Amino acid sequence: KAEQRAELLEINKQAAQYYYYQLRTEGGKIGYQYLSGRGLSEETMRKFGLGYSDKFGGGLYKFLKSKGYSDERLRESGLFNVDERHGMYDKFWNRVIFPIMDVNNRVIGFGGRVMGDGKPKYLNSPETKIFDKSRNLYGLNIARTTRKKYLILCEGYMDVISMHQAGFTNAVASLGTALTSGHASLLKRYTQEVLLLYDSDEAGIRAALRGIPILRDAGVNSRVVNLKPYKDPDEFIKNMGAEAFEERLRQASDSFMFRVSIAESEFSMDEPQGQNRFFERCAELLLELKDELERNLYIEAIVKKYRGQYGVSVEDLRKRVNTL
Ligand code: ATP
Ligand code: MN
Ligand code: MN
Ligand code: MN
Repeated sequence: KAEQRAELLEINKQAAQYYYYQLRTEGGKIGYQYLSGRGLSEETMRKFGLGYSDKFGGGLYKFLKSKGYSDERLRESGLFNVDERHGMYDKFWNRVIFPIMDVNNRVIGFGGRVMGDGKPKYLNSPETKIFDKSRNLYGLNIARTTRKKYLILCEGYMDVISMHQAGFTNAVASLGTALTSGHASLLKRYTQEVLLLYDSDEAGIRAALRGIPILRDAGVNSRVVNLKPYKDPDEFIKNMGAEAFEERLRQASDSFMFRVSIAESEFSMDEPQGQNRFFERCAELLLELKDELERNLYIEAIVKKYRGQYGVSVEDLRKRVNTL
């Protein structure tokens, strides 16, 4: 078993080297140009070990066979597809490649992006004996060494890489999966606080709302950063630069108050009925807070925020919570 794992790690390492080399060949120029076109410097590409899988789909298989690996082991690596007609062939072809490292800098899997609008946009290694998506975070091998008091959690490879290039080397991403308690306890090992920088679409907002309690249960505080009108950290930085980005990080909202403002947007707040249901929802959220001091602080915060508009008082809201 230990030998099998060691051999799978070795295969991934060789594959990463193969893809890295391909990016620098004549055939890989298209990949290199794609990545440069997205603003990545040579240094950044090197730092993340970015690569390219060629158009023909047989190169990696041939390369690893020449190194003497068995078909069985290669199949377990998740880097190949197998079918009756074609036998075994490379899973990734004509994509730029993002090797995924664990916290000890060992390559455990890969992501590959089409260069343009093809589908699927991203293809990722399946889970294998050495690749558990719910216990690894992209970029954490680097982010763990930075001395920031929080980590930044975002959606994508390109987001992590853009942030690192702009100097935000404390950014990580979950690997095309929702945040799990495994991720949360991994984060907890390195930080007390996480800034959530999910995409500013419906899916991103829902992901943030789901992530907050998971982090909380692991003992990690979270705040939510608003990137609007840009779609994700990569686009924000490209358009607005690092300083404006830093300013958004400073303005991150408390995750509880983020949930409150999302709730506000879900009711018709121009009618008493909608207002009433909104405060009902606030009471439900407040009830989740088991600590009395904490609950009182948030009652004050909500009242402070909405008193002017809706005339709600601390007593009103406290009574509402107590009668739930
Ligand atoms: P880009 O900026 O290159 O267009 P993105 O990171 O903004 O990519 P999103 O569509 O926001 O792309 O997806 C976020 C992340 O989710 C991706 O980085 C990838 O890890 C994962 N992902 C996206 N599409 C897929 C897919 N079809 N299959 C598996 N994972 C995916
Ligand atoms: Mn997205
Ligand atoms: Mn993007
Ligand atoms: Mn995105």
